[in-house]
Amino acid sequence: MSDFETLLEKAKAFHGDVCPGIVMGTRMTIAGMRELSMNPMEKNHDLIVYVEIDRCATDAIQAITGVTLGHRTLKHRDYGKFAATFVDSKSGKAVRVAAIPKKGEQEQDFRAIAQKLATVPESDLFTIQKVRVNIPDEDMPGLPTHKEFCSTCGEQILDSREVNTNGLIQCKDCAFGSYYSVT
Ligand SMILES: [Zn+2]
Ligand SMILES: [Zn+2]
Repeated sequence: MSDFETLLEKAKAFHGDVCPGIVMGTRMTIAGMRELSMNPMEKNHDLIVYVEIDRCATDAIQAITGVTLGHRTLKHRDYGKFAATFVDSKSGKAVRVAAIPKKGEQEQDFRAIAQKLATVPESDLFTIQKVRVNIPDEDMPGLPTHKEFCSTCGEQILDSREVNTNGLIQCKDCAFGSYYSVT
């Protein structure tokens, strides 16, 4: 098996199937890590990845690199864009890999699309930019830097995620409205 096939297998095992997004995510990871002089076949503990979409490609990135939300090495920015930024937290080097949207041809068969995506030249798939990412201390892996209690709901808030409105400390749920309602 080629390295690409091995990595694709990893992504497939985690995601459940091989869809176009999994192939894209696998190739994004290969491109991003290569630009940081990292080997995608090995876990790199200095790698932090910002993903800009919560779709299939993100699972491939997570499965191959081993970055996770729980380790604070996977960051989600909810932009709905097929892009990810790979950061070497040691050297500060960072590279953003963004998919070039496909125009024209409308293939229906997922498998055919996935197969094609596996072989087209990388330069047809992505734009790759060198970027700078300032990761605040409260976003870094490690012990929580700061703890507060919400003055409205009383729940604890870690990592400086509280909202301070003229001295009133609240969680974002209480400050901005909730995604749930208690039944
Ligand atoms: Zn999928
Ligand atoms: Zn609250």
